[in-house]
Amino acid sequence: MKCPSCNSTDIQFRGMGYAWYPTGAFGVIALPFAKLIQISSPRYYHCNACGADSAHRTGSGKIAFAILAILALTVLGIFTALVYHGTYLLHHHLTR
Ligand SMILES: [Zn+2]
Repeated sequence: MKCPSCNSTDIQFRGMGYAWYPTGAFGVIALPFAKLIQISSPRYYHCNACGADSAHRTGSGKIAFAILAILALTVLGIFTALVYHGTYLLHHHLTR
């Protein structure tokens, strides 16, 4: 891990992106999901040589992020389909 601005290796780990996010908000069933979010969160570094702050996402973090994106799109798709179907049924019911 190097500083993107000056290539110095004298960098300091500052913490995770959404470290506060994990378990509580999601509950026990969604624990793997929360873990995915935790893995996909970028890690923040501060360079001691030039003072630049940078965010770095690990290789597995990128994969986790991709999985999350696909999951989000799938859920959104199902939700949209349900809402669409629901309004259709309602409309059909009312106009009968
Ligand atoms: Zn630097």
